[in-house]
Amino acid sequence: MQGFGNAFGTRRIFSYHVMMEKILVIEDEKTIQNLVKAYLENEGYRVLTADTGTAGLDVFQRENPDLIVLDLNLPYMDGLELAYRLRQTSDVYILMLTARAEEDDRITGLKSGADDYLTKPFSPREMVARVEALLRRKRQQVVQINEISYHHTEINLLRHEAKAGGKLLDLTPTEFKLLWTLMEKREEVLGREYLLKRVWGGDYYGNDRVVDVYVGQVRRKIEEACGCTLIETVRGVGYKFVDEVN
Ligand code: CA
Repeated sequence: MQGFGNAFGTRRIFSYHVMMEKILVIEDEKTIQNLVKAYLENEGYRVLTADTGTAGLDVFQRENPDLIVLDLNLPYMDGLELAYRLRQTSDVYILMLTARAEEDDRITGLKSGADDYLTKPFSPREMVARVEALLRRKRQQVVQINEISYHHTEINLLRHEAKAGGKLLDLTPTEFKLLWTLMEKREEVLGREYLLKRVWGGDYYGNDRVVDVYVGQVRRKIEEACGCTLIETVRGVGYKFVDEVN
């Protein structure tokens, strides 16, 4: 009977944890703040709110939320500045709310460290879906992964092997690490700074153009192996590992 107890106990703790994931909503427009809060609470999340960037930073430091819904236009400290500051110390997921669908805003938002963005006016259901997608990503990352296989490519950490189109890639340790990092976050745009930090480590003080050089090398080796281009350049932002560049 002990066995059953453990099994059920573990399961209950897991769902409780998921249910109680904390979300911080930083938005000065009360109607939107209330709407976002109501929809997220309805999904079982614990929702905290702040009306300004500075208040949001306080709540963040005190409560350590799992995700932040962050409005771009805020009094005192705007969403961009806040996102930059959060990124100095935290990997918390950020869903940015922007007022305009202009390309500049989107790129600036993503460069500032937001993981996703939504343009106002947005559907509350879509907002909930985006939040769920980000939190799902977070939960998956908790599980230790040693192998990633994506369309033409496969990479195995334990065997230290990478293949494209079934052919073994001859990668240096840094190139291998770079490919792993790109594949781990496939279909996501990764900035040079992020890649520098993940692949070269926090104490690298060189030029971030080193990323371009290494991406070029990995891309060429993949192309030679399978004849396909899998690392896309996203101008002004960074790189994305995709199924295939068209
Ligand atoms: Ca606002």
